[in-house]
Amino acid sequence: MAEFCDGTEEQCLKRAAQLLNAGSCVALPTETVYGLAARYDVEEAVHSVFRLKGRPNDNPLIVHVASIAQAAQVGDVSNTVVRSLMDAFWPGPLTIVVPKVPSVLSAVTAGLPTVAIRCPAHDVFRTILQSTGPLVAPSANVSGRPSPTTAAHVLHDFANADVLVVDGGECQVGLESTVVHVNNSTISILRPGDITSQQLARYGTVAVQSQHNAENAIPMAPGMKYRHYAPDAEVVLLSTVAEAQQFTTHARDTCMLLIETNELQNLVTEERTGWKSVRELHQHSLYSNLRDADALGITMIVCVCTARIRENEALMNRLQKAQSKR
Ligand code: AMP
Ligand code: MG
Repeated sequence: MAEFCDGTEEQCLKRAAQLLNAGSCVALPTETVYGLAARYDVEEAVHSVFRLKGRPNDNPLIVHVASIAQAAQVGDVSNTVVRSLMDAFWPGPLTIVVPKVPSVLSAVTAGLPTVAIRCPAHDVFRTILQSTGPLVAPSANVSGRPSPTTAAHVLHDFANADVLVVDGGECQVGLESTVVHVNNSTISILRPGDITSQQLARYGTVAVQSQHNAENAIPMAPGMKYRHYAPDAEVVLLSTVAEAQQFTTHARDTCMLLIETNELQNLVTEERTGWKSVRELHQHSLYSNLRDADALGITMIVCVCTARIRENEALMNRLQKAQSKR
């Protein structure tokens, strides 16, 4: 059974580092979502990450590092735009795909000649990286489920696995990192995240990689083809409060409403509106709310995506993924 790490923070960090160095997987907090960490250079450890998550082995892992020096152990970080992105956004929620060094295991990169690297901003993770060296760390959820943003989410998904969980509180960002690939001075966004295209545009020409652009020479993030971030409940995206109210009048399902806090005042609060639960629509609580909906037996989650929500490309991307039935 997965277990919380008891003891002082210092004891937990030591225990986590020892387990990792012995080839085990440990769940660690990051600023984005919790990660299931393992040594990047121990084949059996990398395989256990895929096995525990039920992750398809053609979906490569992100290597987490404490510094640019550690990044250089796994990838070619000589491109000047790559360096300026690292200087500007690390530590932080930006993953950069670069050519891998030959020694990086092909299980890590799913056979690709490139490796995705990120420097997390959470102190717990950074401290551990200093004693272990680079670690792979996909989100600490069973593949296909919403990512975990609390230690309790991790325990829930890995109830039957032997995994130590280090509790670092609730994740600040709440969505997975932005993933980019750099070609000369073009920065292609493979997965939107908290670092936005506007922020990236200061460092090069930004291109948003279409998921349907399979012919393109630049590899897409292979993981994006899978149905990610999905609760059991059906997810419906609407644009206005009025639409949501109309919708629930006819719906037979048990509905949860996700809506921006300042739109709540426009909501008719009569009993007959039939919402089982009304929550704030915000990136940092999205996955918690999707998980709660399943726990409450809710069958339909109605999200009101007003103009301000639609401006958040990462949040919209995850909502659309949650909606898709693929
Ligand atoms: P996760 O660890 O589940 O947050 O997902 C990692 C994301 O990074 C997935 O979408 C992967 O496809 C993507 N990724 C990892 N390595 C590479 C790579 N070498 N090239 C392109 N995308 C990558
Ligand atoms: Mg994931």
